[in-house]
Amino acid sequence: MLTRFAPSPTGELHLGHAYSAVLAHEAARSAKGGFYIRIDDIDGNRSREDYVAASLADLGWLGIAWDGDPVRQSQRLDIYQAALDDLRARALVYPCFCTRADIAASLAAPHGPSGAIYPGTCRALPPAERDRRLADEPHAWRLDMARAVAVGSDLDWEESGQGLRRADPAAHGDVVLARKDAPASYHLASTLDDAEMGVTHVIRGADLIASTDVHRLLQALLGLPVPLYRHHMLVCGMDGKRLAKRDAAASLASLRAAGIDGLSLAAGLARGELPTGYSLQMP
Ligand code: GLU
Repeated sequence: MLTRFAPSPTGELHLGHAYSAVLAHEAARSAKGGFYIRIDDIDGNRSREDYVAASLADLGWLGIAWDGDPVRQSQRLDIYQAALDDLRARALVYPCFCTRADIAASLAAPHGPSGAIYPGTCRALPPAERDRRLADEPHAWRLDMARAVAVGSDLDWEESGQGLRRADPAAHGDVVLARKDAPASYHLASTLDDAEMGVTHVIRGADLIASTDVHRLLQALLGLPVPLYRHHMLVCGMDGKRLAKRDAAASLASLRAAGIDGLSLAAGLARGELPTGYSLQMP
């Protein structure tokens, strides 16, 4: 068994991250398996080195020990690029020149499980116009979902304790696989990394279960192994809402400053026990 915890260094870790990290760490260690840290720092505009250092210090405070050096997405751009080239050669992705404002302004933009469904404007660009704009306009790369689901079918995954689940990627529309400002999207980078790192059990918050629809499709398209998944409950604050990076009181740094013992906190989290005022809920 090999699990991982994959923080994005865009803020301080809070109790929700601690819960996720403890579950993944416990699962691996109780099976005498491996546990990796992956730093999801592909978003160069929002990722900060001081958050990387603070996150690792927080994990150490919780008594979490990881194998090897933390893996950095920012150092794996070649892997993402090669997969994108492969999908491009098979005409499963197309360049998209739309701005957020263009998409928001489209009357035909219903919402899917991961936000607005792309109305498909750039999917139908004439080849000559596409080539001309590719040369000098910033662009993202989108998955041509209709073509992709025709290639990858029977998309099941095993959700821990629940049996098989059927992925429904079509509901997401033409998702972005490489952004204008970053060489891969979360979907592409996370799926490739989990496969390449040999992760056998993806343990993460239930807020990401919809993303698994897309990840399962990418696994089929790119010939990647399918890990087992466990999407766990989310830690909510006093207001019943899931914690966000802005909830400073729940940050691990503030809990530590308040004199809480990290090892006892981690032991409690592993049993599903949270400090007073916090609860676990399904989104
Ligand atoms: N970096 C992602 C996050 O912080 C987690 C990715 C994952 O576990 O797949 O939400």
